[in-house]
Amino acid sequence: MTTGKKINKVLVANRGEIALRLIRTIKELGLGSVAVYENPDKEALFIRFADDAIMIGDGPRKDYLDIDRMIWAARKSGADAIHPGYGFLAENPDFSSACEKADIAFIGPPPNVIHDLGNKVVARKIMKKAGIPVTPGTGNLASGEEGIKDAIEFGEKCGFPLMLKASSGGGGRGIRKVEDKKDLLVQIPLARAEALHAFNDDNIYIEKYIENPRHVEIQILADQHGKVIHLGSRDCSIQRRHQKLIEIAPADLPVDVLESMCETAMLAARESGYINAGTVEFLVDPATNKFWFMEINTRLQVEHTVTEMLTGVDIVREQIMITQGEHLKIPEVRFHLLGKAIQVRVNAEDPRNNFMPEGGKRVEVYQSPGGPGIRLDGIAYQGYKIPTEYDSLLVKMTVRGHNWEQAVQRLKRALNDFLIVGPKTTIPFYLAICDEPDFQKGEFNTSYLDTHAEVFDYPENKREIAKLSQLIAEIHAKKINPYAY
Ligand code: ADP
Ligand code: ADP
Ligand code: MG
Repeated sequence: MTTGKKINKVLVANRGEIALRLIRTIKELGLGSVAVYENPDKEALFIRFADDAIMIGDGPRKDYLDIDRMIWAARKSGADAIHPGYGFLAENPDFSSACEKADIAFIGPPPNVIHDLGNKVVARKIMKKAGIPVTPGTGNLASGEEGIKDAIEFGEKCGFPLMLKASSGGGGRGIRKVEDKKDLLVQIPLARAEALHAFNDDNIYIEKYIENPRHVEIQILADQHGKVIHLGSRDCSIQRRHQKLIEIAPADLPVDVLESMCETAMLAARESGYINAGTVEFLVDPATNKFWFMEINTRLQVEHTVTEMLTGVDIVREQIMITQGEHLKIPEVRFHLLGKAIQVRVNAEDPRNNFMPEGGKRVEVYQSPGGPGIRLDGIAYQGYKIPTEYDSLLVKMTVRGHNWEQAVQRLKRALNDFLIVGPKTTIPFYLAICDEPDFQKGEFNTSYLDTHAEVFDYPENKREIAKLSQLIAEIHAKKINPYAY
């Protein structure tokens, strides 16, 4: 069980923007904050914001994944709780149990919940039993000829194309579309090998391929006393290789459909014994608004900020309260707020070159936007050298408007005001999306990028060159940098 003791000091077992975001709430609550970092991150911003910082090794990545090292750091710093953020150890049930054994509160669900829901086949079974619609599919395929026979049988019965998925998969990896029977024979062994390599588990299963669905998810919170609430929906359909790029709250669906999804999500949470914050993901057929359960993510999500912008609820604060054994008390009025929030992930990547990461480059100029309806969760600053060892997320920008039109106008304004010189970023790509008519109408599904190649056709560095020339002229005239505030 999650502990119900008052927390005094929280160790943040993560890096980058999410470490900083967690530290901010920990400080607001008057609690002590401890950052841990691998050597390549020694210049990172999140370290400077924490009360204490502990170097845990040279990494890269392996020390952020080292359970014993984290427990050691917590003991050394006197932390009585650990927040895992997202990625790294966040969905590792062994980490949640190791914390429990060390009498350190894990700010997340209990180990058995992480364990069960971390396996898509187990999660689907729990949901099916509760009468929740799941995408038609198989259980784990048996190994060898038998599994291949079952797979062909399912394909012939339900029709191609199919999705082959790693049972322990995540992060958009371990998912393969299968066009026909011949393709199935080719892909099964490849999918198994890939699953074993990436997730240390060679179990795979099949789902029916839903054509051009929307990805809609529900944020839930559950306390230790059996109360489960939802904080509404998010549309995360705009993806690349099954990974989200733009996230929107709430999803643009009829009210009765959203209500039904929220009810289903709360049922899913209750059926799995859920405690803490989580996300129930669904696929939606835009033609019929029929929806199917896909999976539950047992952690804070990258896109939680859109829900926070819309509802005003600090999800991390609620996570800490829940872990301390408090009752959820958020007023009902928070769940039905009007407006739209959009988050874009500003990455140091070149979208026109297959999103090639720009790690190793230095941020020469960094001027961030502000004003009404803008939230930034970032790690970049002028002079920051982007490490090559980690992901290329520089800053998440979340905007809120009173409706879709205003939110898009605001997003466009803020992206235009954002000046990052040094690495290429995804900013001009998002600007092109802001000008694309289907996006402006709010019409998109998970195939958006495949069907809108024109959003890759933007002028390189045009904004940066124009802004830099203006900046140089002003510095020359006034002998000071008017933007250095
Ligand atoms: P992950 O655990 O990597 O997040 P998911 O099972 O949540 O994997 O799927 C990620 C994305 O892959 C979905 O948002 C959707 O775009 C696509 N996808 C997954 N399953 C299907 C399916 N059965 N039919 C069509 N698209 C799917
Ligand atoms: P308390 O019991 O301490 O008076 P409240 O009833 O004010 O707490 O709030 C209960 C919970 O709801 C708190 O955890 C708080 O974070 C959240 N909450 C309260 N008011 C708001 C608000 N206006 N917006 C978002 N969250 C809120
Ligand atoms: Mg998912």
